[in-house]
Amino acid sequence: MNQLNFNRRDFLNTSVSAGVAAGVAHGGFFSSPTHASENKKLGVALVGLGNLSANQIAPAFQKSANCKLTAIVTGTPEKEKVWSDKYGISRDHIYNYSRFDKLASDDSVDLVYVVLPNSMHAEYTIRAAKAGKHVLCEKPMANSSADCRDMISACKAASRKLAIGYRCQYEPHHLNCIETSRSKELGEIKVIEAGFGFKIGDPKQWRLNKKLAGGGALMDVGVYALQACRYLTGEEPTIITAQETKTDAVKFAQVDESITWLMQFPSGVLAYCSTSYNFNGLNRFNAFTEKGFIRMDPAFSYNGNRMETSKGQVELDAVDQFATEMDAFAKCILENRPSKVSGEEGLKDLLAVEAIYKSIETGTSVKVVA
Ligand code: NAD
Repeated sequence: MNQLNFNRRDFLNTSVSAGVAAGVAHGGFFSSPTHASENKKLGVALVGLGNLSANQIAPAFQKSANCKLTAIVTGTPEKEKVWSDKYGISRDHIYNYSRFDKLASDDSVDLVYVVLPNSMHAEYTIRAAKAGKHVLCEKPMANSSADCRDMISACKAASRKLAIGYRCQYEPHHLNCIETSRSKELGEIKVIEAGFGFKIGDPKQWRLNKKLAGGGALMDVGVYALQACRYLTGEEPTIITAQETKTDAVKFAQVDESITWLMQFPSGVLAYCSTSYNFNGLNRFNAFTEKGFIRMDPAFSYNGNRMETSKGQVELDAVDQFATEMDAFAKCILENRPSKVSGEEGLKDLLAVEAIYKSIETGTSVKVVA
């Protein structure tokens, strides 16, 4: 009863949920041919029960058509009872990090969702694949392109699928921007301006620890702007020039505070991007085209994103990005198709990220090498 009350309240209290309901009623942007897989639910083990898992992913299971939460992995014993009570997970489906590999014999788990600090993504993706599970891994994929390649190889060797948590690629406004770009109805994109940042709090958190985070604002939120430029153009950047500024050398002793970077694409598109951990309000992209513009502001939020082109505002039903992303991956698994947000896609972001850091370090423009 309690759980029902919780779920219902949770469902009704969010504007996103209203959008989901509307989307269902209208048939929605995401309506697709019916597959045999449509009604099947895959079991998910959630690894790392921090903010994202607690506040976004766990509630998203209530809205998911193809995924159910069947197991949890946590290093914090107090969370075991809380999660078990709230989501009805029994003791034999609760793991800690040393028992993680026992997931291999847990038939309730089809896929593992890795929601840990960035440096741990590679290890737990590889261990999950070795345990015979498909893997959905949060962004950024890993701390280095070398780790990304190891993750891809491990999943291939185990014949398991790998997807990265690029939720925006399931957000209707982003999809509409991509469609508008590809249709050329506003002509070719010439220049893109994109950025995502926020003012980070607690100076002791792992996001400010280089070993755990791999980098600062760029690794955490800059990747959204980077990726938007990649999917808006459908191209990979070839040359990158970047600059960093640090106004708080104590807080940002280990990681980047604010970066701007310029990317050149094969067709001649130029993208200038920024990211920061030291101010709020940067959350947008604007693609200037031959005949107008395609923009989102805010662009990368969980809800309330707004899209506009030079023809006017584009209003679409919202979706729960996490539920939609999980369902899309589950369908790929059930229908044996690769995910559009594959490990290779995550690797491409890391190659560009590495070029950005190298450009800052060397003070030169850097070629992105695949
Ligand atoms: P968080 O700090 O809230 O949670 C991290 C979890 O990892 C905690 O439960 C913590 O106990 C656990 N953990 C295990 N070992 C740890 C260690 N050595 N140090 C610190 N924590 C450890 O972080 P979060 O915001 O939930 O982010 C987790 C991942 O999700 C990150 O990779 C982040 O980039 C990604 N993320 C993605 C989105 C998105 O919109 N897709 C949003 C937020 C975070």
